[in-house]
Amino acid sequence: MKTEIIYTGAAYLTVMLVTRKCPTCGSLDCIRPADEVLRQAFTIYAPCPQCRGDKPLDKFTPLVELGLDIDTNYGRCPFCGKRHLDYVMAHVLDILIKEGQKDASAALKDVGTPLIVFGATMTEAPHLHSKSVVMVVDRVNKAVARRILKEVPEIKGVLKRKGNPSDSVGILDIGSNPHVYELMAGCDMRADVISCMLGDVCLYRGQADCHIEFWRNNSVKIKAIEKLFLDGLLDDGVIVDGFASVGTLGLLAAMGGAKKVVLNDAWLPAIKNLLLNIELNSDALGVEVERIVDPSTLPRVGDEPVLVAKASGNVELDVYFGDFRKLDKAVRSCDVCIIDTFPGVDPGPFASRWNGIARKKVITL
Ligand SMILES: [Zn+2]
Ligand SMILES: [Zn+2]
Repeated sequence: MKTEIIYTGAAYLTVMLVTRKCPTCGSLDCIRPADEVLRQAFTIYAPCPQCRGDKPLDKFTPLVELGLDIDTNYGRCPFCGKRHLDYVMAHVLDILIKEGQKDASAALKDVGTPLIVFGATMTEAPHLHSKSVVMVVDRVNKAVARRILKEVPEIKGVLKRKGNPSDSVGILDIGSNPHVYELMAGCDMRADVISCMLGDVCLYRGQADCHIEFWRNNSVKIKAIEKLFLDGLLDDGVIVDGFASVGTLGLLAAMGGAKKVVLNDAWLPAIKNLLLNIELNSDALGVEVERIVDPSTLPRVGDEPVLVAKASGNVELDVYFGDFRKLDKAVRSCDVCIIDTFPGVDPGPFASRWNGIARKKVITL
């Protein structure tokens, strides 16, 4: 089994530090242990008492009319060293305008989509330190992306959006062409931190090739899994998460008392992130992971079900790579089936098929 875990630490330490290489950039700083992220996620982007009152910038007035004198330290708090998200976005936009990638009349609303590196539900505007944002922009070349990374320390990576903002990254369905963004500079790995009645998880994804989803702890999807728990449908049950992506719903079901969770996806980048996420959250899940197939030997889009990994302990996990239409060849029955297709994909045909397989409930999200 190929392992990406790297052990570091001096011999005199009784506890070894376990770090993991980032699958995108190879750095040891990107992927941090889930419990460390969970401890810090809700305060990491909080302002300090001195910068709590920082005023947001006008998002609709052209940046040039705001009269800002933007540089690397403009808007930076002298006490905690962080900057309000708006000032970071203004700095990125200033560079895009100077480099001719944005119209001279562009306002902050036009800059693109900032993806906070450790995304948790926040009550205040994020105040950012270095490498805190993966930026998605419509128009940028590699030289400009590198300039942004060099001059705006808060930016961790720059992605170029392809297609419309509403086009989901990944594959809509088996027959569709994969839709991915292009990494122009830096690294695209970031994590969503979800804290709900079922537990706390930290789920990484590479944003160039995995669906962008803004998780909130009160999201409809998380509420649906909590309802399964409250209705007793997870208790000792076998749960199938048919479109598991990086694992959010299936892993929450695993924390909510399921006996076994089957996580399936047909998109290899999602499976790679899912395996990483199970391993990073293995303490919280109470499992040990066994990799069965090396994902690097698999095609980008799955077809017949392939069992790529299993985990056992407090709960059993089976990770399948393949077309959900064919998963019933490998999984003959379950109690609950979760069907969370991409926006625009009709879950109806999948639901009718699994209505005959799931003993208790099929939910579509
Ligand atoms: Zn990285
Ligand atoms: Zn401050």
